[in-house]
Amino acid sequence: MAFVARAAAKAASSGPAPGVGTAWRMMATTRLTTGVCAAEAKRAMRRVRAYVGLGSNLGDSAATLAAAVRALGALPGVRPRGVSRLYATRPVGVNDQPDFRNAAVALDVPAGPDPATGAIALLVALKGLERAFGRRTRRRWGPRELDLDLLVFGRARLAVERLLEGVSLDPGKADTLLVVPHRDAAERLFVLDPLADLAPGLVPPGWGHTVAWARRRREAIEGPDAVRPIATWDADERSWAPA
Ligand code: ATP
Ligand code: MG
Ligand code: MG
Repeated sequence: MAFVARAAAKAASSGPAPGVGTAWRMMATTRLTTGVCAAEAKRAMRRVRAYVGLGSNLGDSAATLAAAVRALGALPGVRPRGVSRLYATRPVGVNDQPDFRNAAVALDVPAGPDPATGAIALLVALKGLERAFGRRTRRRWGPRELDLDLLVFGRARLAVERLLEGVSLDPGKADTLLVVPHRDAAERLFVLDPLADLAPGLVPPGWGHTVAWARRRREAIEGPDAVRPIATWDADERSWAPA
């Protein structure tokens, strides 16, 4: 725990000190200390390509998303593989709130012993980061300091029911713990635009078409001004540079 908190705190040099828990490290440690062979723990550390969507519309959202990108890349066992452009987007669902900043990242993350375990471990880490960046329970689709959604987890198609009450930050969404690919990703230009920066030819499991195709379809519906690129990721500075 302390190791994770230090890594995330280092990455998110400004902002609150994150207290991110991680299931991956616990998974490996538990298995090793309970005598399960090292080969199994090694298998659990295989990686899978995941895509995570980021959003924010409270505080300095561009700075928050930059710090979140750094924190995601510093999670144990994670290798950052790409960062989309930064977008300014009109709010969807609840209109009386500030515009959002949105982006997406590609990460190679520990696959876990099976896709559901691996994906839930990543979700737990995402929720920990959201809290570390100050997010708290508010109305559904309302303003938030940071939203981190798991868009795609390799070839996995998952719908994992929630076992415990009160895990959600959003009382309106207490039904499922995890749906992958993200259930609304194909219908949101603010997700598709950044995802298309990273993986235009990707066909997420169950979609039947590419991310680029879905992006064009949504742009025709939402219009060209709904989602606008405003910055690119500077890998040296590890921050946004104006587009
Ligand atoms: P939306 O998912 O429509 O974008 P939201 O991001 O505002 O809404 P949150 O409050 O961030 O919703 O998440 C509510 C719950 O959704 C989480 O606690 C989580 O368990 C669940 N959830 C299900 N599938 C996913 C996913 N793919 N990524 C992130 N959260 C998910
Ligand atoms: Mg969301
Ligand atoms: Mg979310």
